[in-house]
Amino acid sequence: MKVKDGMIGLIIGDALGVPVEFTSREELKEDPVMDMIGYGTYNMPPGTWSDDSSMAIATMASIVNKQAIDYDDLMCEFIEWIYNGKYTQYNDTFDYGITTANGINAYKNGCEAILSGGTGERDNGNGSLMRILPLAFIPDIDYETIENVSGLTHGHLRSKIACVFYIEIAKSMIKNNLSIDEHIKSASEKIKNYYKDSGELNHFNRIFNDELDDVDTIKSGGYVIDTFESVIYSLKTTDNFKDAVLRAVNLGRDTDTVGAICGGLAGIFYGFDAIPIYWIDAIPKINKVLELCEKYEAYCDGCL
Ligand SMILES: [Mg+2]
Repeated sequence: MKVKDGMIGLIIGDALGVPVEFTSREELKEDPVMDMIGYGTYNMPPGTWSDDSSMAIATMASIVNKQAIDYDDLMCEFIEWIYNGKYTQYNDTFDYGITTANGINAYKNGCEAILSGGTGERDNGNGSLMRILPLAFIPDIDYETIENVSGLTHGHLRSKIACVFYIEIAKSMIKNNLSIDEHIKSASEKIKNYYKDSGELNHFNRIFNDELDDVDTIKSGGYVIDTFESVIYSLKTTDNFKDAVLRAVNLGRDTDTVGAICGGLAGIFYGFDAIPIYWIDAIPKINKVLELCEKYEAYCDGCL
């Protein structure tokens, strides 16, 4: 079941990174994350997921409830999450991005859902990329819909392209039995072709051209391109789920989001059985997510 592979992978990557969010690479080199440690940055127990997982879970829940992608309903669930702690384990929304909060509040103040996300250059954080994975499981999802779902909080074309690119890599992994390099190459060709007139493709050049070998050039902060490069680097330089997500987290800075976005792809690529069971068992309330994954998979199957 690919939904479970990807979503549990994402949640594990998020939860591994939460205790060390904002920690530098140098500090993590001295004392790397090797397990589900908990506490640290937000003083939350081991296995606590953050905004990345909550918003991806909210997305699945909305689509299951509506049996459709309903932009207004997605926004209503995001409001429930950010203000009331829905889709968190302890009714506590302890982590959210400014651009995400701004988009949700714009909608609350009457803006149309798909126009609520910021469109400035500075609005290109990783906040839509971190929650977009559920769309990868919907057969024949179109680029416009992916762009619109990004645009609920992140309306700049660069953020939208990042989401479409990520979904294309995930879709390639779901459908085809190829190497990681081949999946990235195949998705790159589609993105280069579709967005050739956008003026935005140059930002993705290092991924397109496979120029991510030197870790010192990989910035693992919240800018969507830096995050995306960190994820691709982590996938390309490891050969199993555990090493991929630990490498992503130990790059430092935006550890939970880089871990989550990497974990989503690594989960799909290596499969659920490759995710250490003791990590899955360390996530409180994971059974509720597994139930939702089943309902979501049934919805996706019905779209065929
Ligand atoms: Mg987070």
